[in-house]
Amino acid sequence: MKKRYSAFAIAREAMRNHLGWERAWASPIPKAKYDAIIIGAGGHGLATAYYLGKNHGIRNVAILEKGWLGGGNTGRNTTIIRSNYLQDPSAAIYEKSRSLYETLSQDLNYNIMYSPRGVMMLAQTHHEVRGYQRTAYANALQGVKTEFISPRRVKELCPIMNIDGPRYPVLGALWQDRAGTARHDAVAWGYARACSDMGMDIIQQCEVTAIRREGGRVVGVDTTKGAIDCNKLGIVVAGHSGVLADMAGFRLPIESVALQALVSEPIKPCMDVVVMANTVHGYMSQSDKGEMVIGGGADGYNNYTQRGSFHHIEETVRALVETFPMIARLKMLRQWGGIVDMTGDRSPILSKTPVENVFINCGWGTGGFKAIPGSGWGFAELMATGHSPLTAEFGLERFREGRFVDESVAAGVAH
Ligand SMILES: Cc1cc2nc3c(=O)[nH]c(=O)nc-3n(C[C@H](O)[C@H](O)[C@H](O)COP(=O)(O)OP(=O)(O)OC[C@H]3O[C@@H](n4cnc5c(N)ncnc54)[C@H](O)[C@@H]3O)c2cc1C
Repeated sequence: MKKRYSAFAIAREAMRNHLGWERAWASPIPKAKYDAIIIGAGGHGLATAYYLGKNHGIRNVAILEKGWLGGGNTGRNTTIIRSNYLQDPSAAIYEKSRSLYETLSQDLNYNIMYSPRGVMMLAQTHHEVRGYQRTAYANALQGVKTEFISPRRVKELCPIMNIDGPRYPVLGALWQDRAGTARHDAVAWGYARACSDMGMDIIQQCEVTAIRREGGRVVGVDTTKGAIDCNKLGIVVAGHSGVLADMAGFRLPIESVALQALVSEPIKPCMDVVVMANTVHGYMSQSDKGEMVIGGGADGYNNYTQRGSFHHIEETVRALVETFPMIARLKMLRQWGGIVDMTGDRSPILSKTPVENVFINCGWGTGGFKAIPGSGWGFAELMATGHSPLTAEFGLERFREGRFVDESVAAGVAH
């Protein structure tokens, strides 16, 4: 059992030169067999393992990661958390997630720095006004607290914004006051520490290279650290889902594409809400360090390159300057990319698969950071019991049956 983090622990360690801190998670040698293997130690994989242990008592679990934990999209996103989706199944899972985020620091005994500072999605065309008003009505019926606010209120909440732009004046916004941000690395680290504390094995630098099947079932995986057997397998690898599904012997309706983001030099606090401007295609918040965190677009072609490119900086900053004139004077510090897994209806896949004991969690695309706790909760339930109300509408069969959960409008920009 790990020692708890607390104000008392900080004081105690301060008295003894901080020599008493333990490693947050262990680095074990893989066992020959586990009840469940999760491939991918991103937020979704780690949260799945955590709720398998916490909610279902399944603790003989390994989480296999080809790089370092949280080094995929979980450590590369712009950390926006919201649940103002249009369709009922989406609102249910994203709101479950957002509500779990509210108390996740206490639950994990790890400060994930959840900041419910409020998220606004700007309406800058009449079409968007109608769309967001519709979403606000849908959210009211779903029990998700959002409201459509006036341009004046937008300006009050975010004074640095120019609401009278010549091309795209701000006509209102969809506002969710309990939405916000959290520290992305801390979410992965907090779940990892809690999983390790339950006796689960997180095995980094361990790439799955093949999935072994016998008689329609998976019996184990081959990895760069040897063969490991399992009773159940969860594939949670975001942009590499198609590659792993191929190893397991089925196909996915997924495209992988690089999505980019950038941050400016740090400046004094000037913006304490998150703003998404879908028409001009950009979104921005200010980190605790003072950097303006700016989300860019996705590359226009499928690829696996985890890096940024210059034309995205230019396009994204140009798009935002009319609404945020002050960013024209900022130096950009850093940019990067992550490989996102896009489905046709912009909704995730949390599903059984054609292989009996293999489950897949993917398709979160440009917006899955916000979903980590809810996705882990539902996917763990699906893996443990074969059914979860949270994931029921996100099965693979919906693509065969034409029963989409269309969130292409609510998804808007990368978020
Ligand atoms: C630039 C950018 C901005 C974003 N902004 C937001 C935002 O503001 N809000 C939001 O909600 N979402 C956002 N997202 C989306 C969000 O980051 C993802 O949906 C989410 O992090 C996916 O988490 P994951 O655990 O599924 O994937 P990942 O964190 O990518 O984890 C998957 C892991 O699987 C591992 N893996 C792959 N193949 C193998 C293998 N063969 N063997 C072992 N391990 C393997 C990878 O190394 C990786 O660590 C953004 C994404 C990007 C790229």
